[in-house]
Amino acid sequence: MKNVIALGLALVSSLAIAHAQHAHSHGVGELGIVVEKDQLTVLLEIPQHDVVGFERAPKSAREQVTVQAALEKLGQAERLLVPSAAGQCTLIDKVVEAPLLTGGKAAEGHADVSARYVWRCAQPAALKEVKVNVMGEFKRVRSLNVSFAGPQGQKAGRIDAKNPRFAW
Ligand SMILES: [Zn+2]
Repeated sequence: MKNVIALGLALVSSLAIAHAQHAHSHGVGELGIVVEKDQLTVLLEIPQHDVVGFERAPKSAREQVTVQAALEKLGQAERLLVPSAAGQCTLIDKVVEAPLLTGGKAAEGHADVSARYVWRCAQPAALKEVKVNVMGEFKRVRSLNVSFAGPQGQKAGRIDAKNPRFAW
């Protein structure tokens, strides 16, 4: 089990490193999925452009409204991400980070919005997939690169609106 935790941590930090070292591509986000014991963690990172249409702090009242709506959507984990029903998972934690949208300083050039959602699952062995509705909720997101780590090992893939399920 220690290995799985190590994999999970490695995955989280590799996402963070990828983010720090490379400018993102608009329309393409990153999704990290970690299954560890009875816990499912999903890390989502998408270009701010794909969330609100601009990559700076909001300037007008209208943009502020767009930002509020987007942050609300990002908070609705149960709409964005649907784990296998048989896993009987309950959301226990969520954190949305959008520095430029919540009063933070501008970075260089690009900005990302990231979120972390955690579920506890009564039947983790029955947890086989996550259906991802991010592309439906944020139309500018065309695809997500997925990195998975769980008891069965690591797996990578890509999902889009036509193939929104990541299974393992
Ligand atoms: Zn950008």
